[in-house]
Amino acid sequence: MRAQTSYWQQSLKYKIDASLDDVKKEVSAKEQIIYKNNSPQTLDFIWFHIWPEAYNKSKNTMLYQQLRRDKAHRRHISSYESGAIKDLQFTIEGEPAQTEAHPVYVDVIKLKLNKPLKSGDSVNIESSFIVKLPTFFSRSGYTKDQFMICQWYPKPAVFDKSGWHEFPYLDMGEFYSEYASYDVNIKLPASYVVAATGVLQNKDELDRYKKLGAANVKNNNYAPLKYLAPSGMAEKTLSYKADSVPDFAWFASRNFVIQYDTLQLKSGKVIDAFTYYFDRGSKLWSSSVEYVKDATKKYSNWIGEYAYPTVQAVEGPSNLNSGGMEYPMVTLITVQDDKDYALDAVIAHEVGHNWFMSMLGSNEREHPWLDEGLNTYFELRYEAEKYRYNSIFGDKIPGFLKKASTESFQSQTYSVMASLDMKTPIETSSSGYRNNDDYAMSSYVKPALWLYRLEQSVGTEGMNKAFRRYFNEWKFRHPGPLDMKKSFEDALGFNIDAWFNLIYRPGGL
Ligand SMILES: [Zn+2]
Repeated sequence: MRAQTSYWQQSLKYKIDASLDDVKKEVSAKEQIIYKNNSPQTLDFIWFHIWPEAYNKSKNTMLYQQLRRDKAHRRHISSYESGAIKDLQFTIEGEPAQTEAHPVYVDVIKLKLNKPLKSGDSVNIESSFIVKLPTFFSRSGYTKDQFMICQWYPKPAVFDKSGWHEFPYLDMGEFYSEYASYDVNIKLPASYVVAATGVLQNKDELDRYKKLGAANVKNNNYAPLKYLAPSGMAEKTLSYKADSVPDFAWFASRNFVIQYDTLQLKSGKVIDAFTYYFDRGSKLWSSSVEYVKDATKKYSNWIGEYAYPTVQAVEGPSNLNSGGMEYPMVTLITVQDDKDYALDAVIAHEVGHNWFMSMLGSNEREHPWLDEGLNTYFELRYEAEKYRYNSIFGDKIPGFLKKASTESFQSQTYSVMASLDMKTPIETSSSGYRNNDDYAMSSYVKPALWLYRLEQSVGTEGMNKAFRRYFNEWKFRHPGPLDMKKSFEDALGFNIDAWFNLIYRPGGL
């Protein structure tokens, strides 16, 4: 593999009209995609991910096969309610179109184009669909008082220089998506508060959120004010717009407490920051919007400026294997912890994915370390600087280290991390991991340590310089490992082969 030279990527425009039936737990929708083929090849078909079908228990999906292999999930599977996608009816330029099943994955289909799509041409694809939401057990679904609408619409797989990247939805193993603009209308009962990728276009509703959210911040979460729909309104349609994002997710609850503030980046650009959480009488989320702001500012200074107009975090239900799940401009926090610094760390990590996933759109399924590992390196820096905390060790950090300098704290915690069991090479596809612990070690912890090894020779500023170059060269594009290597070498001015090749090495670093 060489670094990419004549680079291209597909461009997509989505328009989705969705409607939530909160009783039937269904989303019915109409989708339009303008798909522009920027590749040098002519396309005869497009692979589509129809990932709500992964949750269909009556089919032996790759998701259920993976969940059955996982100890934590296996015991609970019988209680999981199925999800599905139905009533897909594709048209291309208004004419009915044919689809074909994928030979292996039930949640992937081939849309056959009615005529070949030449390089440089666009095509208008439309479909209606109904999503039956599963109960919440893997990123998407519903609970008693909350909807998490993720991986919910038919979505073209990525087509890049190495061809199609169609793959099934998995719990352990993330995504790879084309950059797109989204124009999404969501109709639902008026009493719901919604947090979504993108900027809310309904001015009255946005003003209500901001007013309430600012009052709750000012009040320091004392008896937080709740959202009330304008009297006489039974339903509403909220409109969202987002540009240069790889995905669109939304979260809805009648019980969200809102916090709102703004933050200013060094360029002078002002960003809206929101959090949405539940009033459980605890103070845990009382500074949540501060955490979102702090993470956004720090990552902007270290790597490159946050490019979106809004940044948001949502409290979600607890989850078996993760602390949260990231989507562009909005992230779901599923950790149930009573420590403010631990919540801050998880929020910083998930907000950090706006860089490593959203703005830098690597193939997470193939190179999970390229988002999780790089992000963990910065999360650990954030925790060390702010709290002398390290989420790998949690509360096992000895008291004397709490008084150490950031540098000494980092050097001592990383040296303990180096002694952990790290069998699997960093460069391993999600499907190559034996289990969740192996995945966590080799795609989060080991690459953070690997980056720290480079920091020991080039210093923190050297690392920032390397990351800024990588960010500037690959923002809103699909970088691979060798693209990162080239940006780093160009920034640092020397060959980094010896260090870089450690990603292929099994065992410790
Ligand atoms: Zn992550």
